[in-house]
Amino acid sequence: MNPYQHIFEHAKVGIALCSAKDNRLEMVNPAFASIHGYEPDELIGVSPGEIFAPECLAHVNSSRGGSSAYFCTSDDVSFETVHTKKDGSPVEVSVHVTVIRDENGAVSHRITNLQDISERKSIEKQIEFLAYHDPLTGLPNRILLKDRVEQAIKHAQRNHSKMALLCIDLDGFKTINDSLGHSVGDEVLKIVSARLKKCLRKTDTISRQGGDEFILILPDITDTKGIVIPIVKNLLESLQRAFRVEEHTLSTSISIGIALYPNDGETFEPLLQKAETAMYKAKELGRNTYCFYTDQMNAEVLEQLTLQSDLLKAIGNNEFVLHYQPQIDLKEKRITGAEALIRWCHPRLGMVPPVKFIPLAESSGAIVQIGQWVIHEACRQACIWHRQGMNISVAVNISPIQFKRGNLESVVKEALTVSGLPPRFLELEVTESVMMHDTENTLRTVCRLKEVGVQLSIDDFGTGYSSLAYLKRFAVDKLKIDQSFVRDIYTDHDDAVIVKTIIQMAKSLNLCTIAEGVENEQVLCVLEEQGCDAVQGYHFAKPMEAGEFEKYYKGRE
Ligand code: C2E
Ligand code: MG
Ligand code: MG
Repeated sequence: MNPYQHIFEHAKVGIALCSAKDNRLEMVNPAFASIHGYEPDELIGVSPGEIFAPECLAHVNSSRGGSSAYFCTSDDVSFETVHTKKDGSPVEVSVHVTVIRDENGAVSHRITNLQDISERKSIEKQIEFLAYHDPLTGLPNRILLKDRVEQAIKHAQRNHSKMALLCIDLDGFKTINDSLGHSVGDEVLKIVSARLKKCLRKTDTISRQGGDEFILILPDITDTKGIVIPIVKNLLESLQRAFRVEEHTLSTSISIGIALYPNDGETFEPLLQKAETAMYKAKELGRNTYCFYTDQMNAEVLEQLTLQSDLLKAIGNNEFVLHYQPQIDLKEKRITGAEALIRWCHPRLGMVPPVKFIPLAESSGAIVQIGQWVIHEACRQACIWHRQGMNISVAVNISPIQFKRGNLESVVKEALTVSGLPPRFLELEVTESVMMHDTENTLRTVCRLKEVGVQLSIDDFGTGYSSLAYLKRFAVDKLKIDQSFVRDIYTDHDDAVIVKTIIQMAKSLNLCTIAEGVENEQVLCVLEEQGCDAVQGYHFAKPMEAGEFEKYYKGRE
């Protein structure tokens, strides 16, 4: 075989020789044939444009003023196109056509070099897709979202309509991820995105921003109440049905924040930020609900940010104080304890109650330091009282965050050592959620704390989900019955039954009970009848400064 023929036969690129006279293939190499799914023999004598690229022919004809690339008279032409294979399927090819001229300069043949570029094209498409979409759900990502929002804004400007931007966050998704693993979490996200998608109109866009946050664009809003609210309600409802992932039956809900163009912002970023602010408000309102953005929310966010930065300085500036609320033992009819409740004397805002700043301190992590101060201060004060003959225990509230990252045991030990307070006079109040979360780790911490000799009580009992087994395992000493059940105990039959049940259950588990929020004599009487061990509430005294507490204590002795 001559070397040229050898090259022709074994070349990886497809090569074909076509006569210019009748536009028929005269020679094709195996690569050329196989790219099109033919045997070389089958192609001899056929017209390449007609069988490989009828559509392309039309395209080339029009774009080249009638002279197809396959009939080109210029010396060289390259292009990428789609050819049709023998089985009818498409193959993407890059084509290079060169002409051969006879001695008179007329075109006698054309040589086509051709390569299969399907793989490269599909990778390019994939890259392009990934640049604009979330790989898990296939939904548009932030870049594409921004583009679509900008289009929707232009559309709204032209049509004098509005556009709604919705920020959707899954409630409790972190718990699913943490407790069941990320693969279950991923499935949940896919199911949720599919359900949300079903509620939308054709022109709406749903995108995922990573994590458990989805952003929706609802263009063409002519009537906010009439269009947005029904869609939002459908979105909320779409998640009411539980779903199965692996062996788990799960359910989740969403919180939705809504910002409107042009009312809340003229461009993408401010609109998105406001939709997020509104979403956080929806979470605050108890989740599984929606909220339209209002300017008031922005003021609140600013206030929160200021408070958060002030919090960091507050410890150093000595701005915290503890107030103490007496706890009265119903059998002994005397004050046996005090709950230490923190107050923040803010230089500008005055007295800030804990509900306003504890959640902030928890989210910023400052609670660990603040909690440490509370334990030290409460032990110090209790010890002073002990020296004065006031033999009472002091209860401090412990945030779940302190359990997780506050090396609580060493803080407690140090506070006891520094103050000299006997451990049994220090009581730690934790909520039910602390016990239910990360149980094994928590259990270890609790065991070590119990070895130190401090008391453990469950605050706001009845509002969370604790199991009897846990109460036993955690060697809890006391249940603090939540004020919501206590308040109306003498008028609300259900509350009375709940409180009675808690007291009886506690007795059989050998736990003490204390009722919080006792505001009047009637409530006190019912609790005494039901055999509650101790009470705390405005009926006796509000939380007060240490000096006042002392006077109160001594006045009752
Ligand atoms: P809590 O531990 O359940 O405290 C009881 C709350 O009920 C206190 O509110 C107390 O002032 C209030 N209270 C007491 N008796 C009555 C009553 O008869 N009627 C009514 N309506 N309320 C009564 P406060 O001091 O505003 O504390 C609120 C919550 O803040 C506390 O609930 C506790 O969860 C948290 N907290 C307070 N101090 C600290 C602290 O030092 N660290 C941590 N982590 N949380 C704290
Ligand atoms: Mg408490
Ligand atoms: Mg409480």
